Amino acid sequence: MRDKRAIIIKAPRLQNIRNNLRLLWLKTVSQRWNELFDKMEVLERDSGGKYRSVDEMTSEERKKFREFQEEQSKLRDLANRSICKCLVCGKVDQDMVYNKTYDAWYCTECYGLERRVALKRVETRRQKREESCEERAISDHSKTFL
Ligand SMILES: [Zn+2]
Repeated sequence: MRDKRAIIIKAPRLQNIRNNLRLLWLKTVSQRWNELFDKMEVLERDSGGKYRSVDEMTSEERKKFREFQEEQSKLRDLANRSICKCLVCGKVDQDMVYNKTYDAWYCTECYGLERRVALKRVETRRQKREESCEERAISDHSKTFL
């Protein structure tokens, strides 16, 4: 995939279909995440229903618990970086722009804002030549939107 790619749908009926498919997919991901959460809650209770920490679980239970956690983390990352949802604002009904550096999708509004900030930073940098490590990191982030 190219570094920056915008997916724009202008027809309202197609936008509606896109949005509904996105919501359906995100709901499916959310349902799986909740199933894992419920399984983890079972592991967090002893036979009397009292809460117990991961340290109090058997090694087999702890292993399962960590597997569920890892899958939840992957699901969250998958949803957050998918074209179905803006990484910044979380909107699901917008046209999206892909930023390869972050392997994530931004709505056109958030991408435009990042781009305006990036352009302003470039101009400001031209004016002052010195930059700190922190400034360089922010600048590198901004460049990915240009
Ligand atoms: Zn956004």
